[in-house]
Amino acid sequence: MPATTILSGIRPTGNLHVGNYLGALQNFVQLQDRHECFFFIADLHALNEQFDAKEKYAQVLDTAATFIAAGLDPSRSTIFVQSRLPAHAQLAVTLANFIPVGYLFRMTQYKEKAGKQAQGNANAGLLYYPVLMAADILLYQPTFVPVGDDQDQHVELSRDIAGFFNKRFGPTFGLPKTLHTETPRVMSLLDPTKKMSKTLGGNHCLNLDDPPAVITKKLSRAVTDTGDGTGAGAKNLLLLLEHFADHDTAQRFQRAAKEKTIRYADLKQTLARAISDYLKPIQEKKTALLANPDHLEELLAAGAVRADSVAQKTLSAVFQKIGLRPGD
Ligand code: AMP
Repeated sequence: MPATTILSGIRPTGNLHVGNYLGALQNFVQLQDRHECFFFIADLHALNEQFDAKEKYAQVLDTAATFIAAGLDPSRSTIFVQSRLPAHAQLAVTLANFIPVGYLFRMTQYKEKAGKQAQGNANAGLLYYPVLMAADILLYQPTFVPVGDDQDQHVELSRDIAGFFNKRFGPTFGLPKTLHTETPRVMSLLDPTKKMSKTLGGNHCLNLDDPPAVITKKLSRAVTDTGDGTGAGAKNLLLLLEHFADHDTAQRFQRAAKEKTIRYADLKQTLARAISDYLKPIQEKKTALLANPDHLEELLAAGAVRADSVAQKTLSAVFQKIGLRPGD
């Protein structure tokens, strides 16, 4: 078995976008060749924002299908659904006792999301999110957690919690580190000062399911600049081109930006074609997978068994350390 363990999760919030792909999922696929990998569908984490209960299960299956269609191989990576393993909630409730609540109030993501609501109205799940995330991570004792940079602070908090616990009860948890891709932050098409995020609205994102006509339309509205490639929107499009188009094409547009001869209509058209071509086989594979939900469920059930065997070991060790179970 490879020496390094990797773990990460993605929330099933509907359609994943190219930010999720370039910031996280693409990296997962590369990592599975060299490491012991656990990738999960973070369904419990998807409950702290508006959601429709009627859609949630379909979104879980959709995310599983996206993982596999994008290249995760269930025979090499352990793929599972968070809520199906009670150990996640058990460790989260336990760890909550070893972190001051002030640490949670300081989390940027909490402040951003809760800040939009009247004081005291944010749900407790939003505040508690990083504790559940610490449990998700620490159960599998990973060396690295591949995430976009919006999750750095949460991984750091996992290290803090692990550190507090180890100090009080003796060495129990390793200290996980983040692992970034070359694109840890893909920006919104319409407001490139903000990261691409579904919460901003559909036209801010290029979704992995978008058909070519939709990609072309969304890109045609994307913010650029006056023609020198230095604006945040233009930089974001050039970055996407670098990842989705061939090297020569990307270089050609980079050069044109430097020489201030770039034509954004051309860039957008070329980019739309490159992204559509790139996504086509992923979309086809995903459609085939979703046509057989029983098979997807079988894969998730096998993943849950594998993940639980690891999670239970950590949980038992924790319960022993804190005296909830007899010692050795
Ligand atoms: P989430 O949708 O919040 O569950 O995010 C799943 C993964 O995608 C996490 O690793 C995030 O850091 C990453 N991610 C989300 N949005 C972006 C973005 N705009 N750019 C890069 N990575 C992102």
